[in-house]
Amino acid sequence: MERVMDIANPETQELSDKLQADGVKYMFASYVDLHGVSKGKVVPISHLGRMMSGSELCTGAALEGVPQEVSEEEVASHPDAASCIVLPWRKEVAWFASDLWCKGEPFDACSRNILKRVTAQASDMGFTFNLGMEAEFFVLKDDPAAARGFRPVSDRKHLEKPAYDVARMLDNMGWMTELVGAMNGLGWDVYSFDHEDGIGQFEVDFKYFDVVSMADRYVFFRMMAHEIARKHGHFATFMPKPYADRAGSGAHFNMSLADKATGKNLFADANDPRGCGLSQLGYQFIAGVLKHLPAICAAVAPTVNSYKRLVLKGSMSGFTWAPIWACYGNNNRTNTLRIPLGGGRVELRAADSSCNPYLGAALVLAAGLEGIAQGADPGDPHTENMYLKSEAELKTLGIQRLPRTLGEAIDAFAADPLTEKVFGASMHTAWIDYKRDEWISYLNHVSDWEHDRYLKFF
Ligand code: GLU
Ligand code: MG
Repeated sequence: MERVMDIANPETQELSDKLQADGVKYMFASYVDLHGVSKGKVVPISHLGRMMSGSELCTGAALEGVPQEVSEEEVASHPDAASCIVLPWRKEVAWFASDLWCKGEPFDACSRNILKRVTAQASDMGFTFNLGMEAEFFVLKDDPAAARGFRPVSDRKHLEKPAYDVARMLDNMGWMTELVGAMNGLGWDVYSFDHEDGIGQFEVDFKYFDVVSMADRYVFFRMMAHEIARKHGHFATFMPKPYADRAGSGAHFNMSLADKATGKNLFADANDPRGCGLSQLGYQFIAGVLKHLPAICAAVAPTVNSYKRLVLKGSMSGFTWAPIWACYGNNNRTNTLRIPLGGGRVELRAADSSCNPYLGAALVLAAGLEGIAQGADPGDPHTENMYLKSEAELKTLGIQRLPRTLGEAIDAFAADPLTEKVFGASMHTAWIDYKRDEWISYLNHVSDWEHDRYLKFF
């Protein structure tokens, strides 16, 4: 085994020995930019010690959404040893999630640092924030002969209601069992997967973790799904709504606070007088999230396409199950915040597959903690089907519509003072500027819909 000369501490030596014993030769010191997508330099295993102490520098200008003042600077990746994953499909390579540093200190506009600032606040209040993310995505195939140049993998007849379709799932078992096997090999404990309600759409459900580990895993998961799908001649897409008339892809956040000393779930209460199995702390958390929900939407549903998912109709199975009203309920999928059966956790259904999980989770957690600090109360849970209520009725109940577009979501984000507290001044400005440009570029583009409707009409 190669002794590594530049390793200062015994833990790093132990990690190096273990990785080498596993056959690892190269490592990614990965970080994310504003999009939550993995980037990073590759380091040979003989330089693990240097890498762990932050040797890998990247030019700030290469990061999307980075504040202007750092675009001239170098940022350094500081890998988190605990996040190390050996790529299941390429075992000579390991991947580390990293914090970014700038000018010798943690970079305040790094997504992972932003999340860690809020988890430190939770920790000061005695809490660990646990998060489960439901991974929904499509796996499709490029095909120049198909309508838009791509099609579902399975060529079976499209069902009106494709959710849980066994035949179509069987046609996709090749890549799917490789993906699930890889996840379980990493100890992620997949407990179910299925064909979802879109054609070629899937969901994989796995164990929850502390929020930083979960965000690392979700970033890794998207990359792994892409790589494994590609190996099988397909592609995975985390675009939230690839087909207008079919269900979109959520990334529902399943959230709970635990006692940081004992690990006990503080959201569970079997004697909950409101009948949802949730503690008073859980209700306070919900009240905080509801108060900031329009701004939160911008962070958990951050693309133009995200708002094509957050609509009432847009799935052949009736409703979209991606609710559009800022309200909460019991085990009732028509509320943006749901308390799933059994209680003890709160599900945010607005979050979608395109989110940067660090930024999304940071804002939701901060909002929930604010609700707790203020002892806020969200009122009674909605147990009825909110999709069946008229807009007028919802108005009398004081229930707001979530933002209808990315533009509206950015406005809500910019107007809510909590967002700057969480993101920090420089990321806050950079994020709004980047997203406004994205929205304006969409507004200015001329779509097929416009050609279909107007080209030969007048
Ligand atoms: N695909 C739905 C969404 O966009 C969720 C369906 C489900 O409840 O699993 O959020
Ligand atoms: Mg689903």
